[in-house]
Amino acid sequence: MNFLSYDPKVITSIRIFFIFIGSVVAWGQVNYDLLLKNGHVIDGKNKISAIRDVAIKDGKVAAVAANIPASQALKTVDVTGLYVTPGLVDIHAHVYTGTGERGSYAGDLSIYPDGFTLRNGITTVADAGGAGWRNFEDFKDRVIDRSRTRVLSFINIVGNGMRGGQYEQNLDDMDAKPTAEMALKHKGLIIGVKTAHFAGPEWKPYEQAVLAGKTANIPVMVDFGTRRLERPLYDLLTKYLRPGDIYTHMYSGLRIEQGEDGGPSKAMIEGRKRGIIFDVGHGGGSFVWTVAVPLMKAGFVPDSISTDIHVSSMNAGMKDMLNIMDKFLAMGMSLDDVIIKSTWNPAKEIKREDLGNLSVGSTADIAVLRLEKGKFGFVDMNSARMDGSQKLLCELTLRDGKVVYDLNGITRELWNKLPKNYDKQGDPRWDGFAPSSRTQRKKSDH
Ligand SMILES: [Zn+2]
Repeated sequence: MNFLSYDPKVITSIRIFFIFIGSVVAWGQVNYDLLLKNGHVIDGKNKISAIRDVAIKDGKVAAVAANIPASQALKTVDVTGLYVTPGLVDIHAHVYTGTGERGSYAGDLSIYPDGFTLRNGITTVADAGGAGWRNFEDFKDRVIDRSRTRVLSFINIVGNGMRGGQYEQNLDDMDAKPTAEMALKHKGLIIGVKTAHFAGPEWKPYEQAVLAGKTANIPVMVDFGTRRLERPLYDLLTKYLRPGDIYTHMYSGLRIEQGEDGGPSKAMIEGRKRGIIFDVGHGGGSFVWTVAVPLMKAGFVPDSISTDIHVSSMNAGMKDMLNIMDKFLAMGMSLDDVIIKSTWNPAKEIKREDLGNLSVGSTADIAVLRLEKGKFGFVDMNSARMDGSQKLLCELTLRDGKVVYDLNGITRELWNKLPKNYDKQGDPRWDGFAPSSRTQRKKSDH
């Protein structure tokens, strides 16, 4: 007698029985560490804008689906009425601080990221040129390796980085070779080359930056410095930069970004046709309504939204990432578009496609945002206001699947529902504030 002689009907029934048993077992199992339930997921990469549950396991996105049972997760958080998005990616920030240098973006003008990122839904920042090849490893030691925020770097083409005029105008310190070598040594961490603040008539900073970018296979981000007739924006965007290179401060109006009709200049139009990327880089002096509104009206929208956060911009009109995103809502951009330009687009621009999305298997860097309705005001670099009716608030931020910010304690139990002598709450599998498992073990040893 052989296997084939069995009645196929019996075999089918046995198979169905085991599938049934299997699903019962799976249903009762705790498969996930954390479940965000009933939120409106906006994930540009996966073209999702709908109510979905997001399940996390071991710091990764494990499932995005409708109706994942709460019984399958160690911890479930109800995020009804909130937006669940990838952790925001701010590709223009200044975070090389701690050196004690005055008046320097490799010093006092920069900020420690964790104080300003996680509470704003940002999980990744790219420092825009604070460090060059001479001081990148100091930056890495002081800030990158010590931050909970994921900190990446556009390395400055100036070897000394953004330390002020005497360094940043020194053509002799702009050298593609050691810049590219440092970038290749720290692949994935140095994600681009920056040139900024140059006042001279020469093209050398841009040529060297592009050369370094070519060698290390990373994009160049340009702050086009002082406007000089010898080096017009048109030439930069149509000849010097490569498709995929990034023009930041796109709404400053300081370098003929705007044409005579109020819309984008010919340089901007031709640049976009060639595949140049346009980034906001708001900062203290690079966003004015008289440029942003007509360019937006003409359809010249940003590829990515970024802050250019530093000690002065953050208390003036810029404030923070969400405030800039609000400005685009106020100018009529849809929330889905605002989110994609603050997550997936910047991640793609810096070739970190592992970030800025909620694909299954990707790092669970997540922001949970509330869209408030009311009367709000938004201020540009010249201290002029535009009114708006929507404001984004960050309710919850996850980094690697762990709660690192929770504005209203939505992941927490009510104090008077807990045992009277309650101790530190949370579980290290989902909570970035929980005592580590080692500490717990020690405690239980007592
Ligand atoms: Zn900047």
